[in-house]
Amino acid sequence: MVQVYGRGESAKKLSTNFGVGEFACKCNCCSQVLVDDVLVERLQQIRDHFGTAVNINSGYRCEAHNAKVGGSKTSHHMKGMAADIRVVGVKPAEVAKYAESVGIRRIGLYEGNTEGNFVHIGSGTTKRFWKGHAGTNVETFLDTVRTITVELPVLKRGMKGNAVKALQAQLIGYGYPCGSSGTDGSFGSATEAAVKAYQKDHGLEEDGSVGRITRSTMLGIA
Ligand SMILES: [Zn+2]
Ligand SMILES: [Zn+2]
Repeated sequence: MVQVYGRGESAKKLSTNFGVGEFACKCNCCSQVLVDDVLVERLQQIRDHFGTAVNINSGYRCEAHNAKVGGSKTSHHMKGMAADIRVVGVKPAEVAKYAESVGIRRIGLYEGNTEGNFVHIGSGTTKRFWKGHAGTNVETFLDTVRTITVELPVLKRGMKGNAVKALQAQLIGYGYPCGSSGTDGSFGSATEAAVKAYQKDHGLEEDGSVGRITRSTMLGIA
C-alpha cells in the first residue's frame, strides 16, 4: 500500500536500511513523500541479497519534477511505486537479473555511460521489463547476462540466513510455498518440500537441497 509521509518525516525508518528521506522528491517544492510498502520490502530484499549499500538516485517524484527530469507522463515514480537504484559494487545487469528471479514485475535496466548505470525497480504488478532511456522492451534479463561462476554453498535443511531467505522468495515467486512462515530465512521441512516439488517439476534429482544444478535451473542460467 502506498503511504503518504511529510518531508519533515525524512528521518523516519521504513525498514532496516531505508528511510523516508531517501525516497523524497529531489525538487524543493513539494511537501509530501509517497512510498509503497511493497517497494520498500523489495529494496530491502535486494539490499539483503547483495549485502552491500543500495543508493536511491530517484524515488518519489512530484508531477513537476517528473516532467523536469523527462520522466514518462505515467511514471510510477509519481505514485511512490518506483525507485532508481545503484547497488554498490554490483553491475546493474546483475541487479536486474536478481530482481526478475525473485518475481519483481517492473524492471528497467540502464547500463553504460550514456544510460547512467542504474536499475529502475517498481512495485507495480503488470509486467514490464525494458532497457535504457529508449524503453526497449525486454522479455527477460536472465539469459542476457554473463555471470562469473561463483561456487555458492549447497543450501539444505537446517541452514539459516539471507541465502535461504532469497531461495524461499524465489520458490514462492515460482509458485512453491515454503510454509506458513514464508521467507523466514530458516530452511525447514516446508522449504525442503518446496525444493523437492520444484526439482520434481523440473526433472532434477529430488534431494531437497539446492546445489549448483538446481540453483542454475532456478536462475535460468543452466
Ligand atoms: Zn517534487
Ligand atoms: Zn525509474
